[in-house]
Amino acid sequence: MTFALSCPHCAAANEDPFEVLRQGAVDFTTCISCAKNISYALLDCERCGHENVLVWAKHPEEFDINQPHCPQCRAPNAYATGTEETLE
Ligand SMILES: [Zn+2]
Ligand SMILES: [Zn+2]
Repeated sequence: MTFALSCPHCAAANEDPFEVLRQGAVDFTTCISCAKNISYALLDCERCGHENVLVWAKHPEEFDINQPHCPQCRAPNAYATGTEETLE
């Protein structure tokens, strides 16, 4: 399965074979188009299993949720409901 990250700087679609993804953790990659860093995180919806891809233009100081609900089933993401122990 591939993921497309939409670059927050230039909007290029970065389709990348991320093979070592840390679920629920913020990681970063480099845009194929503008070469800037893209911080991203993947969250699996606990209700429907939809993979939510969050992106930031810079590394968030805290786990800053900009997509608090699953776009598919509207369930709140776990990170928006206070599972603090996984927010390292
Ligand atoms: Zn870019
Ligand atoms: Zn969902």
